Amino acid sequence: MPAKWPKEIQFKEMTLYVQEKTCRQCGSDVVICSHREHCVYTFDGAVKLICKQAHCSNKTCASRSRLINPEAERTITLPRWRIDWTLFTWMGFRRLKRHWSIPQIQHELLDTYHIRLSDDAITEYVRKYQVMVAARHQDIERWREEYKESDGVILAIDGLQPEKGHETLYVIREVQHQRVWFAEPLLSSSYAEIRKVIQRATHLAQQLKTPILGWISDKQEAFVTLIAEECPNVPHRYCRNHFMRDLATPVLEKDSHAKVQMRRKVRGLRTIEKETLAALDQVHPDDEGLTHAHQHYAAAIVLDYCAAIRGILNDNHGGPLRPPGLRMAEALEDVSLSIGRNLHYRNTPINSRLKRLYEGIQRGLAIYDQEKRQIVTYVTHMTQVFETLNAEHGPLNTRLSTFRKLTQQFTQTNDPITNHMSKIMTSFEIGLFIGSDKVEIPDDNLELERWFKKPKGHERRIHGRKHVGMRIVTEGPTLLPALDAHLE
Ligand SMILES: [Zn+2]
Repeated sequence: MPAKWPKEIQFKEMTLYVQEKTCRQCGSDVVICSHREHCVYTFDGAVKLICKQAHCSNKTCASRSRLINPEAERTITLPRWRIDWTLFTWMGFRRLKRHWSIPQIQHELLDTYHIRLSDDAITEYVRKYQVMVAARHQDIERWREEYKESDGVILAIDGLQPEKGHETLYVIREVQHQRVWFAEPLLSSSYAEIRKVIQRATHLAQQLKTPILGWISDKQEAFVTLIAEECPNVPHRYCRNHFMRDLATPVLEKDSHAKVQMRRKVRGLRTIEKETLAALDQVHPDDEGLTHAHQHYAAAIVLDYCAAIRGILNDNHGGPLRPPGLRMAEALEDVSLSIGRNLHYRNTPINSRLKRLYEGIQRGLAIYDQEKRQIVTYVTHMTQVFETLNAEHGPLNTRLSTFRKLTQQFTQTNDPITNHMSKIMTSFEIGLFIGSDKVEIPDDNLELERWFKKPKGHERRIHGRKHVGMRIVTEGPTLLPALDAHLE
């Protein structure tokens, strides 16, 4: 049963009449026989719709028992709704485009428009809105119009799993029109289940009468096998980004290990900062003006260095070709060179503190230096491999033969990490050098991965947590198309 309306509400009344004048069955006049009240909130206050219901005046007509409701009611609201369409779309837009949380919508309605709705009610309206938008976004007739001119489609597939071991949401996105085709939650990632997802995509392409020119994925085994089975002879590109990540895994582990050790040696920043500030406090304002200013200036130098070093230590950026530890070591070298130049001025009040900073950095760098040469060698190898993947560096065949030469070369060493690289290269080769000049399949699946950030961010913002809940998977089939629709 719907909640009662608050007593103090003043309703504006609006009477709605049936448009039909005569009975569709027998042609007799239609007469008003009863009325029904339907109260809704609108931006202009609460409205009581008085819906005059009618029926056929002919007592022997079979249609007489059918109550006719005023059509106008549907253009204002839907049965059992407490809000009109305008409020409904306002809420949906705030939620899906602006990513407002339900309480935020609730408070805004109350504060600005004096509309009191429970969070459950708002949740329900927003869910309905999402379903409606998704249905419109996935309407096949509209797609046909959109894909009318298309020579073919390139499909990207990936799974989104907020928690390990839970359901996964599989998403198919079409690359050229940048449109999410559909999302499907699968309880198990079994081949049979994933096959259905791929079949649904191929079926959609058939309905659009457009061929699938290519697939792109992160080379999960199931995708590789099933796409080959369901779409024989369609090129399947493996994401270059995933390849590089897999290629670099042991290198990045080595780098990260050395980085942690290095970082640990560069410490005591807080102590040096405190000492510097304490020393400043002891400078007497009555001291000679020049000395006073110098003291401040010198302290600022130490504090700036501390801030720079802290920034470097907290920076965790990087990638396969720029390992974070290597970046950190290079940045620390720069800072230590700079401090080193200052150390030549021995008689300054901050000399001892700068020296401690310098020595700390040197100790850290000494640790990383043990691994540095090897890591740099690996990065050089990986850069060579990466260059073979770039179409700007020559025709496909030349690049492929370089890639194979490198694979061969990496097999022949005794170094396990280099051997690992050759294994990854062999397993990825077929999906990296695929396609032709005519069909341009993107090099990586980054677009879809970046797209995933949108629903994830959307979910995080409702809960205000860092964590994305399972709701994203269960709601995915309508949530993702609805969000996609709101990007336009
Ligand atoms: Zn009739």
